[in-house]
Amino acid sequence: MEKKESALFTDNEIEQLNSRFENTGAEEILIWSVENFGDEIALGTGFGASGVILIHMVYKLQLPMKIFCLDTNLLFDETYALWKQLELRYGKKIESAATALSLSEQAAAYGNNLWKTDPDRCCHIRKVLPLQRYLSDKKAWISGIRKSQTEHRRNAQKIERDALNNVIKINPLLNWTDSMIWDTIHQNDIPYHRLYDEGYPSIGCRPCTAPANGNGSPRAGRWENLEKTECGIHLNGHHLKSGSR
Ligand code: SF4
Repeated sequence: MEKKESALFTDNEIEQLNSRFENTGAEEILIWSVENFGDEIALGTGFGASGVILIHMVYKLQLPMKIFCLDTNLLFDETYALWKQLELRYGKKIESAATALSLSEQAAAYGNNLWKTDPDRCCHIRKVLPLQRYLSDKKAWISGIRKSQTEHRRNAQKIERDALNNVIKINPLLNWTDSMIWDTIHQNDIPYHRLYDEGYPSIGCRPCTAPANGNGSPRAGRWENLEKTECGIHLNGHHLKSGSR
């Protein structure tokens, strides 16, 4: 589906929006997002602590916003359970964006345990491409990334261009601290991922996520023993080499 050019702000407009939103709260940014993008915006979540807060806000503000999860078919059972729990609590369907390539087809094409032999390719197949497809008829998406999570995210902006998907990306919780996140979850009794209570500071796919083991990094346990810290969906297209997967 062709995307309307009006969807995309100029660099100058993005800069102006970021100045305007410097001290603006997450809820106001969500409201602005819906006013601007109507039903052509969606909230993406992997059901981390930031994501459940955004889901709660969308529900509380009664925003007609689609919510989706990139389902790699490799998520923890606890993640699928939380997905259902949130749908029940908020009475809102959370859509699945997933590759059509089953795990056995992936193994036949690329070998067993692609997440070990070539995790970038695995993330590309199971996360980056499904996101691209899901956003192909949207103008914008919302993510729960925060500056404190990775070196790369430290440079993110509340309003960004996602060049890979040709949409605007909005990060309403970008400046939130861990204590703001957990205070909000507890004060509002928002359902959250059980693995946080079992020593996992960050939760992704089952094969690529481990408990922190004393490492204090907010992304500890993700792609353990590798330099990889991002699956690619938050790199806004800057990681792609021409002709790459
Ligand atoms: S996080 Fe791991 S299992 Fe999940 S898509 Fe990426 S490499 Fe594959």
